[in-house]
Order: sequence, then C-alpha cells, then structure tokens
Amino acid sequence: AVHVRDLHKSYGDLEVLRGIDLDVATGEVVCLIGPSGSGKSTLLRCLNLLESPQSGTISVGGFTVTDPDLDVDAMRRRVGMVFQQFNLFPHLSVLENCTVSQVKVLKRSKEEAKRIALANLERVGLEAKAGQRPTQLSGGQQQRVAIARALSMDPDLMLFDEPTSALDPETVGDVLAIMRQLADDGMTMLVVTHEMSFARDVADRVVFMDGGVVVEQGAAREVIGSPQHERTRTFLSRVL
Ligand code: ATP
Ligand code: MG
Repeated sequence: AVHVRDLHKSYGDLEVLRGIDLDVATGEVVCLIGPSGSGKSTLLRCLNLLESPQSGTISVGGFTVTDPDLDVDAMRRRVGMVFQQFNLFPHLSVLENCTVSQVKVLKRSKEEAKRIALANLERVGLEAKAGQRPTQLSGGQQQRVAIARALSMDPDLMLFDEPTSALDPETVGDVLAIMRQLADDGMTMLVVTHEMSFARDVADRVVFMDGGVVVEQGAAREVIGSPQHERTRTFLSRVL
C-alpha cells in the first residue's frame, strides 16, 4: 500500500508538488491522470526516492520512504517500475534482462532466476522470445519484457509512468491487456496514463492532478464519466 501526506517538491523556485495526499490500498489499481507538467512523473519518482521531496511523508509497502534512515535498496526491491522508455539492456538477451537483477540483488541462483523469468515471460506471452535481443522486438514486446523483468523481482507494488505513450498504436493494446491481467491478478498498481478507456475500465480509482495538486479523485466511472471540477472537465474534453 502507498500513503502520501502533504508532499511538497520544488526544483529551485518551481514548486512542482504542492501538498499531495494520495493513497493506494493493497490490491488497488489507481490511475493518475492530468495535463503535461502537472507533476505526475515527479510524484511517481518521489515514491521510490528517484527524487527527494522537500517535505511531507511517504510510506510504501511498510517502508517510510521519507525517513532519513530508510534502507533505500530494500524499499526499491519491493517496488517495480515501468517507464515510457523501456530501459532494457540492449547487449543482453530477453531472458538475461529478466534474470540479472534477480541474481545480483535478490541473490537467487541462476537456475531459479531463469525459472522465474521464464514464468513471467510466459505471463506476458513472450517465452518464445527469451533468446532474442531487445532490439529484435517491437516496442510493445519490449515493454512487455520490461513488465516481466519487474515482475520477476516479486514486487508488492507496480508503478507505471505512461507505459504505452511511446508505442505504435497497434502494440498499445497488447501492453494494456497485460496490465489489465495484472490488475485482475490482484497486483497493487499506480498507473500514470492518458489511456482513458483503460482508466475507466480497469482502475478502482482515478486521481486527477493539475498544477501540483490533486484536484479531484474518486471511482473511475465517476471522475471520467461525471467530473465535478471545471479543470477536470476541460482536461477530459481534450483527451477523450
Ligand atoms: P507529462 O505528462 O508531460 O509527463 P508530468 O505531469 O509527468 O508531465 P513532471 O514531469 O512531473 O510532469 O514535471 C512537472 C514540472 O516539473 C514541469 O514543469 C517540469 O518542467 C518540471 N521538472 C521535472 N523534472 C525536473 C527537473 N529534474 N528539474 C527541473 N524541473 C523539472
Ligand atoms: Mg510525466
């Protein structure tokens, strides 16, 4: 689960997060939506301390992220992150991409790591590609490998930052289908996305951010179907 309270983050004079409260319950799927520059990526990056906030508290899977004594590596092991750019290792095979951190970070044996990686590649429909290089795959397939790699670390929580924005339209659906399956399997997920039909159909809750604050949140159908705030309506009229 995730609990964020009164989170503030500035870059110099620019206050990007201006008092964010956010909760994601265990097993819940929350979609974070909002215009470009509203602070969505910054918020996600604060959750696993890729950015350090100025003030506020964050707890992720029982770790108090904002505690100066936090074991950062132990916390990051519990959190899977999937970005717009897949960041796969180009010189490693698909299978090796999914085993390397298991061996290095979790100290699993090579055999066990391989077994777990293959199970997760099967889950994303790519076990047949295990021996290939990422560059031999389509963008959508590479993103599915990135998801399998994250899942191979047995995360408690998955963070997605616009995982389909860089993909060709014809491969977007495959990635969204995997994410939907993951949600059905009970994974706790926080997803930044512009895919409103995914948000409406899959998310338990939708959070709309603008200008570094949460403007509106609620059940997916309500926020997307009958938004209460003018800013939410304006945003949705542009993306829907
Ligand atoms: P998008 O939908 O375009 O991805 P976003 O909601 O994810 O937007 P952020 O990337 O969180 O927005 O950026 C919020 C603001 O913070 C923007 O004004 C951006 O220019 C600024 N910003 C982000 N990262 C940095 C940084 N490292 N240094 C300075 N400013 C930054
Ligand atoms: Mg962003």
